[in-house]
Amino acid sequence: MKCIICKNPKDEKDFNEEHVFPDSIGGEYKIHNVCKDCNGHLGKTIDSKFIKTGVIRAINHDLKIENKKGKVVPAFPNIVVDPNDNSIRLKPLWDNKGNLKDTEFETTIKGNIVKYDETKSLNTILSELDILYKKDRIPVLKCIEDEEEKYNKFLEIKEDFKQKYEKNEFTSSKEPIEQHLETFGEEIILESLKISYELTHEILGEEYFNDPLCEIFRDYLVKGKLDDDFESKIIFEGFYEPINNAFNFHHFILFNINNTLVSGVTLYNTFVSIFIVSKDASRYNLKENKYIIFNEPQDNNNSEMV
Ligand SMILES: [Zn+2]
Repeated sequence: MKCIICKNPKDEKDFNEEHVFPDSIGGEYKIHNVCKDCNGHLGKTIDSKFIKTGVIRAINHDLKIENKKGKVVPAFPNIVVDPNDNSIRLKPLWDNKGNLKDTEFETTIKGNIVKYDETKSLNTILSELDILYKKDRIPVLKCIEDEEEKYNKFLEIKEDFKQKYEKNEFTSSKEPIEQHLETFGEEIILESLKISYELTHEILGEEYFNDPLCEIFRDYLVKGKLDDDFESKIIFEGFYEPINNAFNFHHFILFNINNTLVSGVTLYNTFVSIFIVSKDASRYNLKENKYIIFNEPQDNNNSEMV
């Protein structure tokens, strides 16, 4: 059997299951004509970069999608802080289901703070402070032995915090970590290109190796990145719907339009990428003008002809 990525003929034992839609986003549809080496390469260069993209992390977290280890990955990294001597370090801790379970304060409670969650009310933060006080987890208070003195100091800290919060003074002198949710990044296009290539092969069969456009797609996957003129080579169109409409639904569609085969990959019902995958549909023995493949959790792969 020939691997569709490296094109090398290999033994059956050199192949394993390739999740067309990454399993970290709930991918269920599998193919068996990608060799183990190429599978590893695609995972490292394409799938993992896609999963780490800010907007994908945020959606996965919001939809509570578990990765292959059964864990909902936090929407942003744990430390969102100005590491100045005089700053509070806020460290949100997430549980495996993506819920905020605790907030740790580090260093001293004076100076600046980066608000890591603007939706959090003052009362919520103050009650979190109370919990931390009860657990004796505010570092600056730990060294005070006298209980009354400790409590008074805590009230002072709280008051100081409250005033700063109300005056909106909690802005770091250093750049806060930002999440660029509006990015329509190369990672999403490349992931969509991979899905398009693999499912086009699935529908068209080995004859697709002889298509001039096949080689262009394959080349991007072997390199694991796009170049500056990819849009002119594969005539890519991309758009996306508002991300608050995202849900865990991915699908692929292949059309025959006047002898040109066009594919569309939709991820999270939101990111749509369109590619021209062949300029000569007549070389294939296609029974239908439109093929749709859904990523659905079920035992058998489902390809529906419309
Ligand atoms: Zn291979």
